[in-house]
Amino acid sequence: MTTPSSATQKQRDVVHDGDMPQLRDRVRELEACWDRICAGEWSWDHLASLRDHAHTLAESASSLGTSTISATVQQLAQSLMHMEAIPPDAPAPKMRADIDTLFTTLIAAVHASESESHIRLLPAPSAVVERAERQSIVLTIEDDSTAADHMTVQLEHFGYHAIVVSTLNGVADAARTHPPVAIVLDILLPKGILADPQRMRETIRVEGDPPVIFLSQRNDFEARLWAVRAGGKAYLTKPVDIDRLVGVLDTLTGAFTPEPFRVLIVDDTRMMSTLYEAMLRDAGMLTVALNNPTQVIQMLNEFQPDLLLLDMYMPTCTGTEVATLIRQQAAFISLPIVFLSGEQDREHQLAALNHGGDDFLTKPITAAQLVSAVTSRIHRARAMRAQLSQDGLTGLLTHVSIKEQVIREMVRAQRYGTALTLAMIDIDHFKRINDTYGHAAGDRVLKGLSRLLHQRLRRSDSIGRYGGEEFLIIMPQTDGPTAFHVIDGIRVRFATIGHQLGNDDKETTVTFSGGVACMCPGHHEGSVLLEAADAALYTAKHAGRNRIMLSEGSCDGNTSSHHR
Ligand code: GH3
Ligand code: MG
Ligand code: MG
Repeated sequence: MTTPSSATQKQRDVVHDGDMPQLRDRVRELEACWDRICAGEWSWDHLASLRDHAHTLAESASSLGTSTISATVQQLAQSLMHMEAIPPDAPAPKMRADIDTLFTTLIAAVHASESESHIRLLPAPSAVVERAERQSIVLTIEDDSTAADHMTVQLEHFGYHAIVVSTLNGVADAARTHPPVAIVLDILLPKGILADPQRMRETIRVEGDPPVIFLSQRNDFEARLWAVRAGGKAYLTKPVDIDRLVGVLDTLTGAFTPEPFRVLIVDDTRMMSTLYEAMLRDAGMLTVALNNPTQVIQMLNEFQPDLLLLDMYMPTCTGTEVATLIRQQAAFISLPIVFLSGEQDREHQLAALNHGGDDFLTKPITAAQLVSAVTSRIHRARAMRAQLSQDGLTGLLTHVSIKEQVIREMVRAQRYGTALTLAMIDIDHFKRINDTYGHAAGDRVLKGLSRLLHQRLRRSDSIGRYGGEEFLIIMPQTDGPTAFHVIDGIRVRFATIGHQLGNDDKETTVTFSGGVACMCPGHHEGSVLLEAADAALYTAKHAGRNRIMLSEGSCDGNTSSHHR
């Protein structure tokens, strides 16, 4: 059995020795900061620096620790961000208690994760917060060690960590120490008793019942039927194209778990909004509560909720008025608005729905009712938005939506004085790939690249398919040199992936070029940012391709990279 390579072992040690204590220290620091505020050192400056710490931590926590840690830190950052206490009035006791609870949860989670970190595989330390949870172990049963090594390297690019065993006997042990998200098995292996698919099925059934993918030279009905009977969830013929395999893995393991639902609650009664928040948070949603409806537009812009839960009767204005004024703004035309009220009168309910509400829920409501109503609304709204804004082939944002996103992020960056960087990338000589291997093969490369981008970039980054084989990436709060470094890392990685494009055993490598341009605080106007990225891309192409150019004036001057 080949256990994690020594390189991974080293990474694990580095993370264990270095980053966990640092995380703990940073959590302590943050808590101390909070304590000072509660002890009376309450000023906007203190609050700002606390928010800052929490945000930085939230970013690194998702790459470092467990999902509990990152979820708690994120919740903490959010609570701080939307704290309404105005200095010098200290935070309300309720708010204080909530935040104290989050700290307690967080510290407990850090402790728990420290004590188990000697057996856990932690992600590679990296300046970049990577998108997916990097615990995706794929148990591979392969007796040819060259093939196994090759597959391991290729899978690693996409965030899957292969644990290889050479015989079926090793499966149970390996699965116990490294629980896999999927099992990949070469179908040539079964002989003798295991030729019985039912026996095979039992042999490879492990804890958690991960999906099994069969690889085979054969493409005949009998072999495929055998695999189905042996419990295979997918069947790929060899030579296996990595883009295909990763596509199947992503689908079967649900690798791209959807973003949590975001719900904004507007209710003047704090007790009610807190109750709804608790109900929705228990169901894994992110929530923000507003007790003052006058801030609703600002919060819609900042929090970007999937749904608005709106009280009908508030002292400043009614829910229908709020719904009407929200609907008068084009950006919120499709935002689901659900009224929540004690109103029993059917006439009044219908009138509210006429004013832009989508649904009417009557108080009192149980958690199950609320969660179910909110969930189905959000599902539908997201599906509709995906139809309109996602590219069919890659699932990335469409040209129109990514451009809209650029504008939104620019406004945000200007308002908060933060950096913003765009990267435009374009596959090199893509026409040749289509001409040589056909359009379908080209499509697989496009999907592979979009998956890699998705995997390697932060959740807060936006990725769009700008043109046929051209991608636009928006990186908020990132300066030019940092973005350059990240995109260049992806370039290097992409260039080493062997795509199985033809019918032979040959693997083809594909490269891309990129241009990076940054709008740092005080630097050039937003409108020229796209052009600057495009111009840098053009320069990269002319300088020989397979390289990234950082636009001049992007914070720290001129950088370029290319293959060695
Ligand atoms: P360069 O290095 O200069 O970018 O060369 P190139 O061949 O990549 O650029 P060019 O713009 O000449 O060709 C791009 C090709 O991309 C042409 C088009 O057929 C192909 N293409 C665009 N969209 C798709 C798609 O969705 N699928 C496939 N398979 N090919 C596409
Ligand atoms: Mg091209
Ligand atoms: Mg092009």
